[in-house]
Amino acid sequence: MADIIDGKAFAEGLRARVATVAADFEAKAGRKAGLAVVLVGEDPASQVYVRNKGKQTLACGMASFEHKLPADTSEADLLALVDRLNADPAVDGILVQLPLPAHMNEQKVIATINPDKDVDGFHVVNVGRLATGLPGYVPCTPLGCVMLLKDKLGSLSGLDAVVIGRSNIVGKPMAQLLIAESCTVTVAHSRTKDLPAAVRRADIVVAAVGRPEMVKGDWLKPGATVIDVGINRVPAAEEGKTRLVGDVDFASASEVAGAITPVPGGVGPMTIAVLLRNTIVAAHRAADLAFDESAL
Ligand code: NAD
Repeated sequence: MADIIDGKAFAEGLRARVATVAADFEAKAGRKAGLAVVLVGEDPASQVYVRNKGKQTLACGMASFEHKLPADTSEADLLALVDRLNADPAVDGILVQLPLPAHMNEQKVIATINPDKDVDGFHVVNVGRLATGLPGYVPCTPLGCVMLLKDKLGSLSGLDAVVIGRSNIVGKPMAQLLIAESCTVTVAHSRTKDLPAAVRRADIVVAAVGRPEMVKGDWLKPGATVIDVGINRVPAAEEGKTRLVGDVDFASASEVAGAITPVPGGVGPMTIAVLLRNTIVAAHRAADLAFDESAL
């Protein structure tokens, strides 16, 4: 039976470390580190997520600035708000919650965020920094996955990794991070010819697909470490109820894997914790204060 990688506990520990660093930052800088979150429209999942971000930001001793705009806000008004946040010295990190309403160009909005406040790591400047090994901001979910992997395995150097999914938010930055950790990386996606064969070669499997329980236990190399990014809502046994499952078939995979993240309680809780980590890093850089980022 595989070890369970407890992302919830790791995320709690990370938030506690961020809180300690945030208190130290406030003492040195004479102000709190600040995170601004912009939500356009009333998508229920986004509302929950933004509320949790706000609560956890405050709990870490940082300032939270929430901007909730109606769904019919014009793109020009949203860009003007981002410009104001770019210029506001109390704001170290800016996150515009995606998806945006259809009448807005997400790329244009992301491109307007100052890359040095882009704590989500989606701006092309930060994508380029990650690809070239320069310090910048890395998307929170894949960075959280690497933290869990290193916590479990120590050095990842020389390991074979497969990343299933090639999105800009998870799959591609995940592959870049694993290359930086000296893994041999395969990126699989919807056109991959023989996915089970690609998965079977891997010591590390990261599934970021959005297909419930797609990756089966008999695809895995025995002892592999499995990181399940997927969050899929499926009907539960009880009528009218739903439950969350990942992209990995946990029941069969946990029989073969050496270690595996559960859903929920694996990768999910890491995302906001890493966002807070990125924000306190941004605050130190903005204030030109040194601290050991690797200690987080
Ligand atoms: P996406 O839809 O942008 O990308 C999915 C990727 O899966 C694509 O690159 C596609 O090529 C690949 N794919 C689709 N069908 C496939 C198949 N049959 N075989 C192999 N590859 C296939 O999704 P995303 O934004 O990268 O998110 C992926 C999953 O991770 C979703 O379930 C999402 O909810 C979840 N997610 C979780 C977090 C979190 O834990 N905080 C954050 C982001 C995304």
